[in-house]
Amino acid sequence: MSENKPMNKSRREAMKVMLGGLATVPLMNLVGMAAAQAEELPRVDAATDPTAKALKYSEDATKADRAAAARPGLAPEEQHCANCQFVLADAGEWRPCSLFPGKAVNENGWCASWTLKAG
Ligand code: SF4
Repeated sequence: MSENKPMNKSRREAMKVMLGGLATVPLMNLVGMAAAQAEELPRVDAATDPTAKALKYSEDATKADRAAAARPGLAPEEQHCANCQFVLADAGEWRPCSLFPGKAVNENGWCASWTLKAG
C-alpha cells in the first residue's frame, strides 16, 4: 500500500500539469480571438464620433493636448491607449476600449479619460 503513494503523487502531479496545460489553450485562444476581433471592429472616428469629440480622442496621441488634461500617473508624452486602464487587449494596433463599446481605438491614441493601467 505504501509503495503506491509515490506513484499516486506523481500521477496527481502529472494530472495537474495536463489540466493546467488544457486550461492555458482556451485562454490563449481567447486572447488571440480578442486581438483578431478588434482588428475587425469599426475604428473610432475622432471627427464624427460624439464620445470621441467629448473626450478629445485622437488616434495619434502626439496630436492631442495631453499636457492640458493633466492626467496623473505618467508624463503626458508617455500616455497613450496601449497603457490605459480602459483598453481591453494587450496587443494589436487597433484595440477595443471600454469607453467606446463595439469600436476600436489606436494603440497610439489618447483621450481625456486616459488612466494609467494598473499593474
Ligand atoms: S479611455 Fe484610454 S484606451 Fe480608451 S480612448 Fe481613452 S486613452 Fe484610449
